[in-house]
Amino acid sequence: MTTIAFIGLGNMGLPMAKNLLGAGHAVRGFDLSSESLEKLTAAGGTAAASAAEAVSGAEVVVTMLPAGKHVRAVYEESVFPNAAPGTFFIDCSTIDVDTSRAVAADAAAKGFPMLDAPVSGGTGGAEAGTLTFMVGGDDAAFERASPFLKVMGATIVHAGGSGSGQAAKICNNMVLGISMIAVSEAFALADKLGLDRQKLFDISSKSSGQCWAMTSYCPVPGPVPTSPANREYQAGFSAAMMLKDLDLAQQAAESAKATTPMGKKAAEFYGNFVSEGNGALDFSAVFKKLRGN
Ligand code: NAD
Repeated sequence: MTTIAFIGLGNMGLPMAKNLLGAGHAVRGFDLSSESLEKLTAAGGTAAASAAEAVSGAEVVVTMLPAGKHVRAVYEESVFPNAAPGTFFIDCSTIDVDTSRAVAADAAAKGFPMLDAPVSGGTGGAEAGTLTFMVGGDDAAFERASPFLKVMGATIVHAGGSGSGQAAKICNNMVLGISMIAVSEAFALADKLGLDRQKLFDISSKSSGQCWAMTSYCPVPGPVPTSPANREYQAGFSAAMMLKDLDLAQQAAESAKATTPMGKKAAEFYGNFVSEGNGALDFSAVFKKLRGN
């Protein structure tokens, strides 16, 4: 049994922490929300009064926070000053590559190994313990973290050095954002041309237009029964979350001087979609905007 500090018990963090408890670890959790702390206690965890208190006496620290500024503040103010020598850190939040590398470098300078380990798989994957972890950091830290990541996920990939997990996450989601718009445009055009949606799916899902946005998450109701289009676009992965990741990709592209014209267009498109009041809808709801009436 290992004592784990878990900071950030939101939609993702709480079920991940519960899986660590289920595997027999002791979890000392902290979140700004007292409701989340009560849920952790009900599941057998210990609620700490602060992040600092959660970290004191823990052997591993896991964070699952909204953005880079939260990660930087929690590590600088609470984790670094209170972690015992030998503790190692796993940040599972999706944040910008530059902040991820900077915080990991600060940790290394203080003698603490740190991994970036963002996830895909959503809240369903977090609950089922089937997340995919994209991990950045050195080999030794990856070896130490693997048993814990395996409790929370089904696919654990060591993507490379520090920041590589975040890089993998935003590159993948840039593909997804662009391809969802492409698939939605194709279905909207098919409608206008009088082509049956199922026929387009039957052909395209077996042809060169085949991609995950088409075959697993089809943005029109019907062809893929499990896709959010069949439940009024109730979010599996919200448009606001997609926008966050596309903006992170643009931030990284600017910092690395990479050319990503389609990624930029996709970020602008989702930016407009979200500012029109659609942030809580599933990201595949862009089909409705493209289809019009
Ligand atoms: P969430 O908003 O539900 O949870 C974030 C939690 O962090 C909240 O409970 C909040 O109170 C807490 N928090 C914020 N600042 C804090 C602080 N200083 N100290 C302690 N707690 C603090 O968000 P989520 O959906 O759980 O997402 C968490 C991370 O996972 C994000 O980076 C997100 O991009 C990423 N992610 C989410 C999904 C998803 O489907 N929800 C999928 C993949 C990745």
